Amino acid sequence: MALSGKPDLLIADEPTTALDVTVQAQVLDLINELVEKLNLTVIMISHDVGAIATVAKRCAVMYHGEIVEEGETVEILRAPRHDYTRKLLAAVPDIDAPLDLQQAPTASAPLLEVKDLSKVYATRSGGEVRAVDAVDFSVAKGEILGIVGESGSGKSTIARLVLRLIEPTGGQVIFDGQDITGLSGEPLRLMRRHMQLVFQNPHSALNGRHTIGDAIGEPFRIQSKLSRRDIDAEVDRLLDIVQLPRLFRYRYPHELSGGQKQRVCIARAVALNPKLLLLDEPTSALDVSVQAQVLAFLRELREELDLTYVFISHDLAVVRELCDRVLVMNRGRIVEQGKTADIFNAPSEDYTRGLLASARKTSKSAFTSVEAA
Ligand code: ADP
Ligand code: MG
Repeated sequence: MALSGKPDLLIADEPTTALDVTVQAQVLDLINELVEKLNLTVIMISHDVGAIATVAKRCAVMYHGEIVEEGETVEILRAPRHDYTRKLLAAVPDIDAPLDLQQAPTASAPLLEVKDLSKVYATRSGGEVRAVDAVDFSVAKGEILGIVGESGSGKSTIARLVLRLIEPTGGQVIFDGQDITGLSGEPLRLMRRHMQLVFQNPHSALNGRHTIGDAIGEPFRIQSKLSRRDIDAEVDRLLDIVQLPRLFRYRYPHELSGGQKQRVCIARAVALNPKLLLLDEPTSALDVSVQAQVLAFLRELREELDLTYVFISHDLAVVRELCDRVLVMNRGRIVEQGKTADIFNAPSEDYTRGLLASARKTSKSAFTSVEAA
């Protein structure tokens, strides 16, 4: 559509940010092709350094409304001059960095078991979509399980099925030894305290008319009989946990940055001491330096609060860095699952190899090795 008026200049504002690695690679290839074929000039805006490195010959780095450096992309990546650029590059997760094998989990009882779980939607044309198709996996206490896959592969549907926000077509969800598939009413409400969901977009997850204090205090008002004063004390405790100033309770969401808002969402999710957090693309809307902070913070929080995570992401480098085990999804099915090191070093399926190849196109090693060329 943008090309229909035969423009000379195309301004692409975060054109691949919401896309999974496979589609991102295709779109970036397309932009490169258009530049060649149509002699098009492109200004590409992105917080993804890898994407910039793939298309831009020159780039400018913005910080607090100013261009802090500008030059040949290769030069800037090889020898960043500004402090901010250095920090930004350091924060990019590296899919080829050595793995910290100490993160391998010690065997412990499963907190969550999913057996033969399916969700089928009927389509308007009379067909059906197998959003989740006979999925089996378990998550041990204290573990971080990563779920990766292209968009539409069924990742979010799994999260919603586990939480019983939608009804499965078949199969079982066993949480802490209890089959919760048939629960309803009060027992389901009580069970939900132990599992919480954090969404991709912290901007839309918070009500703009409610203060941060109200947002964090909400679970207590709904789920507990605490007095106002006790709720205030809990809000202070949670702001401390997510490392935000206590005075933030009086602020409104628009007065916070993306990373701060995501911390508020996490504070609200851990308010009632859940055992399991389901994080659905929790850093996908954040830029890399904020993402690095949120990831480090999630690691600390797991230790501090004895949490177990299911971490859904289309960013393979992030999953590799954070997760103990990984599950690869395609079209509602599990393609393979295993320890992070095994999946990334020796994937057994072509599908996984393809995903990894797409991710490597814009990976840190891809753009740092450009310097050699
Ligand atoms: P992901 O999170 O991996 O991007 P989703 O779990 O959101 O994928 O979706 C999986 C599939 O299920 C997609 O094909 C999607 O279009 C379909 N789907 C999800 N929700 C519904 C719904 N309410 N009705 C019909 N199809 C749906
Ligand atoms: Mg999703």
